Amino acid sequence: MSKVVALVGRPNVGKSTLFNRLTKTRDALVADFPGLTRDRKYGRAMYNDSEYILIDTGGIDGSEEGIETHMAEQSLLAIDEADLVFFLVDARSGLTSGDYMIADYVRRHQKKTVLVANKIDGLDSDVATAELYALGISAVYPISASHGRGLSSLLDEVLAPVLADGEEHLLPEAGPFDDPDVIAWEKGFDFLENVPMDKEAGGFDWHAWKKRHQNKDENSESAEGSEEASEKKTADSSEKEHDGSFSDLPVKFAIVGRPNVGKSTLTNRLLGEDRVIVYDMPGTTRDSIYIPLKKDDQEYIVIDTAGVRKRKKVNEAVEKFSVVKTLQAIEDSNVTILVIDANAGVTDQDLSLLSFIIQSGRSLVIAVNKWDGLDKEVKEKVKQDLELRLGFVDFAEIHFISALHGTGVGHLFESILSAYRSATTRVSTSKLNRILTMATQELQPPLSNGRRVKLKYAHAGGYNPPRIIIHGNKTGDLTDAYKRYLNNYYRKSLHIIGTPISLEFHDSE
Ligand code: GDP
Ligand code: GDP
Repeated sequence: MSKVVALVGRPNVGKSTLFNRLTKTRDALVADFPGLTRDRKYGRAMYNDSEYILIDTGGIDGSEEGIETHMAEQSLLAIDEADLVFFLVDARSGLTSGDYMIADYVRRHQKKTVLVANKIDGLDSDVATAELYALGISAVYPISASHGRGLSSLLDEVLAPVLADGEEHLLPEAGPFDDPDVIAWEKGFDFLENVPMDKEAGGFDWHAWKKRHQNKDENSESAEGSEEASEKKTADSSEKEHDGSFSDLPVKFAIVGRPNVGKSTLTNRLLGEDRVIVYDMPGTTRDSIYIPLKKDDQEYIVIDTAGVRKRKKVNEAVEKFSVVKTLQAIEDSNVTILVIDANAGVTDQDLSLLSFIIQSGRSLVIAVNKWDGLDKEVKEKVKQDLELRLGFVDFAEIHFISALHGTGVGHLFESILSAYRSATTRVSTSKLNRILTMATQELQPPLSNGRRVKLKYAHAGGYNPPRIIIHGNKTGDLTDAYKRYLNNYYRKSLHIIGTPISLEFHDSE
């Protein structure tokens, strides 16, 4: 299960700068799903070969009023979702009440936290960080996000062990910091208590609320149940690697998509109507439900992000869609089914989810749902729209289905299996080389400064997704068009469907 790192701190301390540097992409997924504000951004980042999810937040400065409380709320939600918190402070300015509040919140929730003192460029780091120990967080890392200084120690010494499931010492120390004001402030964001947000009145009236709750007892925020559950899943997912004989292993597929596209309806449909769903897991926002399923002698595990059993809750929209849950389900799957609502067409959020699926290298099947009840012209228009906007995932099979009526649903399994098989089948080196020879004979690689780029030999670099390594001369001069040509050539020759192929080029001199 991929780990989650949250960047929190006051506005302007450099969180976005660090986020962009670590994700190396602007393809952030923004949580503007119903019920959530846009103040949490999610990105996929890599450390060596490990993937993790990075959350960037708007910021907390401790004096929030009106709309700002929503921003602060987003930061606290991000902390709740995280395995590790990078708590950023600006080394150039002193600590503020907001910093103490964050420190208190991570301590109360026992989150692994390091203090990241940013903007250290041009400063003496010992002097600049001396004051920060007052927060009671003993791990302090001076960095410069914009210059890239100090990042390797932070990543090697803090992130790496957390990704490898260690480092209890990063837990904040218990301390004499139980300021009643701080406790009251935090309680203002106590989602477990379902604090009512008065949206009509222009936001949540923090001051009135604070008065009301100042004398209330501290409630317990134990989340032991969920922690145990996620540990179990970690143990499961370590068995992910296998030798490619697909029939004797369950194929894990995740059903993901925006809220209301029909994920739960589809899950129920796939499980069969008369199936009794025995588990009613308390379902924290973070955990997907793993459901075993057998079809035509093949075992599957459905990773259900929607929750087949809906709980009636006031803030259901917030609970139903969790970006972290979706991204972790994608990472943990062999094949991801992206459900799109035919009535809405391809939305920007669908595209963000797609870009995550592609970055993760998972196999992909697209299900265009609610295909029932559309008239012929609308169907044609939707298809054109799909062709236009989904051209870049032309490797994926598209199914037009009605989860409600069951139309087309059974055929999804065929695509899931062929995508899985494509991602895991072993191909011999000699076959990869034969295909390379044919491809380069049919269309020669381009010239570079009058000399032709030479592609000499190929071998497999891995599976799931398939990686093909090609050695040659001047491969850096290959055009994108030629790389695409080769990619398609391999795809057709090897009958690879539903999974991206990654080609890597190496100069062999
Ligand atoms: P955020 O509000 O916490 O996301 O902060 P930003 O990433 O937007 O950064 C706020 C300002 O600080 C911007 O003007 C950045 O260029 C600047 N900044 C970020 N990191 C550094 C740093 O390491 N050194 C210096 N000198 N400035 C930085
Ligand atoms: P989720 O939030 O993605 O899990 O979506 P749901 O499964 O809860 O479905 C949202 C709404 O769409 C519900 O009212 C469903 O009855 C409806 N719905 C789901 N699938 C279909 C479908 O194939 N056709 C039609 N017409 N409605 C559907």
